[in-house]
Amino acid sequence: MKFCPKCGTLLVFKKEKRCLVCPRCGWEEKVEKPISYVKAPAEEKIVVIGKEEQRLRTLPQTKITCPKCGYGKAYWWMVQTRSIDESPTQFYRCVRCGYTWREYS
Ligand SMILES: [Zn+2]
Ligand SMILES: [Zn+2]
Repeated sequence: MKFCPKCGTLLVFKKEKRCLVCPRCGWEEKVEKPISYVKAPAEEKIVVIGKEEQRLRTLPQTKITCPKCGYGKAYWWMVQTRSIDESPTQFYRCVRCGYTWREYS
């Protein structure tokens, strides 16, 4: 908090002017780094990878023939469907064409 050196009135911070202004006499005081003014951090340039893609990167690969393109390698993961009693469904995703299919074990 700062008071006007001229009339002693509490100075009001004006965001658009980036300075303290006296509402009574109009005194203005420049504020270099006001606490209430937080500069947005510079946008980080990160190549955004889709969640699906990120997840796939960690997936193991297996030798299986893609039913669509015939490629011999695919990612695989298990998905527990409905209840625990049921055996999980195994999914495959072709490394080359991205075709996804499932196989009931
Ligand atoms: Zn004043
Ligand atoms: Zn394929």
